[in-house]
Order: sequence, then structure tokens, then C-alpha cells
Amino acid sequence: MSQASIVRASHLYSAPGLDGRWRPLESGAIYQRGGIVEEIGTYDAIREAHPDAPLFGSERSVVLPGFVNGHHHVGLTPTQLGSPDLPLELWLIHRLRARYVDPYLDTVYSAFEMLASGVTAVQHIRAGTIGSIQQSEASAREIIRAYQDIGMRVSLSFSVRDQNRLVYGDDAAFVASLPEELRSKANWHLSRFEGSVDEYIALFQRLRVDYADDSLVGIQLAPANLHWCSDKTLRKFADVSERHDAPIHIHLLETQYQKAYGFKRAGRSAFEHIASLGIVGPRVTIGHGVWATESDLDMVADTGTHICHNCSSNFRLRSGVAPVNQFRSRGINVALGMDEAGINDNRDMLQEMRLVLNAHRQPGMDLADVPSTNEVLTMATLGGARTTPFGEKIGSLRVGCRADLVMFDLDKISYPYLDGNTSVLDAVMHRATPQDIHGVMVDGEIVYRDGQFTRVDHRALLENLSEHMRRPLTEAEQSGKWLGNALLPYAREFYRS
Ligand SMILES: [Zn+2]
Repeated sequence: MSQASIVRASHLYSAPGLDGRWRPLESGAIYQRGGIVEEIGTYDAIREAHPDAPLFGSERSVVLPGFVNGHHHVGLTPTQLGSPDLPLELWLIHRLRARYVDPYLDTVYSAFEMLASGVTAVQHIRAGTIGSIQQSEASAREIIRAYQDIGMRVSLSFSVRDQNRLVYGDDAAFVASLPEELRSKANWHLSRFEGSVDEYIALFQRLRVDYADDSLVGIQLAPANLHWCSDKTLRKFADVSERHDAPIHIHLLETQYQKAYGFKRAGRSAFEHIASLGIVGPRVTIGHGVWATESDLDMVADTGTHICHNCSSNFRLRSGVAPVNQFRSRGINVALGMDEAGINDNRDMLQEMRLVLNAHRQPGMDLADVPSTNEVLTMATLGGARTTPFGEKIGSLRVGCRADLVMFDLDKISYPYLDGNTSVLDAVMHRATPQDIHGVMVDGEIVYRDGQFTRVDHRALLENLSEHMRRPLTEAEQSGKWLGNALLPYAREFYRS
């Protein structure tokens, strides 16, 4: 458990007001004990009450709640693994060529980037369920161990699929449409998905029990997407979610092909269909939602369902521009996710927030029509928090919340000049980079300080990852690589029709 401490700030942004605006407490401080914010006030008052508490931050620190990356999958990016951007459906096929990456080393790799940009909690959705359930369980424990070691908060889920693993249609029919020499390799790939839906649900239950005492670990559910799950499976997830009061994160309506698929399968929109199966409401987060209709969004708002906006990913995989201003005008809770990687192929949450701030600036004069810096900060903090099992215990620095926070150096942000008319928050949201962050605290513990990770050897772990990836390709990796390329023209043909 972390020691009690004081965090001092020139500008302390603890939570948005009822009007949605984040107003700073100037010359403020928080006192945290056991990872929980116990007091907020002026630095002088807090210091007087706790004269011996260690001090972090200074009278030149800007303090914000730690950011929540609401949608994350991997460490080494698809580009690094040989699959640069393509339209989503083709890219999913091309990614069959991805190599196996040790889950511990892979996780610390992206955790380094996230923490250094102020992310203190992540929704880690382990995509793909290749291998046995024992292998999936071992990887889950390694991923969690990586976050525990680095000192980050994680909510882990497995993206479970039980059908349509190659294209948005029946696996057997697609394989039958392939030339002879491709069929056996495609069937080999399909045979690698060994774990059943029931086994993944049992794994969820085991992990939830095993990590119940770790306040930094949450376990939740992730049926992969409508096309990847049968109705029976989606109903099962709805039922388990209700029984365990566990959040669900489901990819949905990411592309126009997914929109078309919903109507083809169910004669109604993908969202209406999953809602009819019980996947709807405050426990549910829609990942992407780019192609949600106006009536879908009305229902999302009415039911308190959340949407996680993955702006970089939507650009990179040609998914489209999510109607974020329509999410906002309906009061839908929006989280932000960097998905596989942000627009610069890294995990820089400041950059992602800035992209969201600018991607939806439709022409016009009314300021309320487009996202403000205040709103984007809320999306990246409380908005994301609400989609995790931690809920509003994170995402703000109110009394009683977990002490997850990020400290910026005001002198760096404002050097060589910052006009007093520009708010410090606007300066952070428009200009700050990870180089301006001098400290990150998670659960009351400083886990990143002046460019150094305090709990692990950054350089040694990166070297281990580099060495791990220098090994020769296994037979399975060679087959995957071949298959990812060979299937591409047939997948393209499938979507043409
Ligand atoms: Zn995703």
C-alpha cells in the first residue's frame, strides 16, 4: 500500500462542475492516504494539517486526474508486426500474419507509452482467442502481472468470437469458395480457436475471483462484435454481465460493412439487435459506433449505454468519422480509446485527445456544436472511467476517489510565453506533450517521475522484447504469414459482393 502524501499544484483540476467545466483550484493540493484522496484544499491548509507527509508536485505543477485509455489491444503495433493500415476488414485478414509476442513484454511495451502520456488506467481487450483456454488464461495472468509490475490500473477482458472468423459470413462457406491449396491452410487457422464460449466465461469468473482483492485490477466481458457472435452467445454474455454486475465492451458498427451486416442478419440495426438480446444499458459500452443511426443514438442515450470513440483507429482503418457531435448533443457518455495505436503509431493520450478535439470541428459559429477542451478532458477521464469496473472511483480527484493523477510542468507548457487570456487547461489540451509530464501517480504511488519508470527497468525490458522478436519464425508463424497474404484477394472479393 502506498504511503500517505501530499500532491501540490499551481492548478489542480479535480473534477468538472455541474456545467461540465473543469475549474482549477489555484495553489491547491490533495492529501492522499492508502491510494485514496482524503482531502482537497489550498496547499497551505493541507500542509498545516499534515506537516510530515512527503510532498510531490510543486507550486509550478498542473495536476489532472490520470487518463483512461478506454480501448486497447496490443503492445507492438500492427505496423510494427508487418500489417500497415488497410480497410478494417482486409486488415483483419492481413493480421493473420502477425507473430506471437510474449504477452508480458508486449504489455509493458505499450504500458510505458501510455503511462508516459498520463494514462493511469486501461481497458485492455485481449483480441483474438487463438490457442487453448489454458494458453489464454496464462496470457491473461501475464498481462495483469505486467500492469501490476509497472503500477498501472487495468481492466482486462477477452474478445470472444464463436463464428465468422475470416470474413463477415459463414467460415465453412468462405473456405469452400477458396482454391483447393488455400482450403487446408484456412481450416488449420480456424482449428486454432480452441476455447469455447463457456470456457471463456468460466475464465472470466476465475479471474474475477482471483483478482478480487487487487484494487488495481478489474475483469470484464467483451463479446467481440455482432458478426463474430451468435445470438446464443450474446444472450449468454448479457446474462453473465447481469449476474456479476460486470461491464461489457463490444465492438460495434465500426464500418459500413458492419452496418450492412446487421441489417442482413437481423433485418434491423446491429445496435437494435444486440439490445434485443440484452446487451444494452449502463453496463454496456459500444466500441466505435461510427455507423450508428440517429435512432440507434436515441436508444443509446435513453438506455445510458456508453460509446468508446476510437478516433485514430477510425481514420487509419478507413472506418469513417464517428458522429461525435451527435453523441454529445444527446448527452451520451463518451470514452476515448487508442485501439491498437494512435495516429502516430504510438500510445500518446495527449495526442489522441487533441485529435478528438480537432476532428469534429464542423463549420459554423456556435461553440456548442463542437467538442470543447473541457468535454474532451471529461471523455479521457470520467467518460472512460464509467466504462470500467472501477466506475467513478477513478477519472476525477474528488474526495474518496483513487489517487490516480498526472502532473505537468507549467513552466514547460508556458515557456517562452503564454498569454494570461489562454486558460491553463486550454494550453494543456492544445499544446502539452509527454515531455511536459513530470510525474504520474497511480493509487497514491509515483510510478513515473522525470522520464523514469520507478518500478521496472524500462531499458532492460525493451531489450528483452527486442531480443524476443529476433528469434526465428516458428512453423505456425510462417503459415500465418503466408495465409495473411494469400487470403487477401479472396476477402476483397467477398466484400465486393
Ligand atoms: Zn478494437
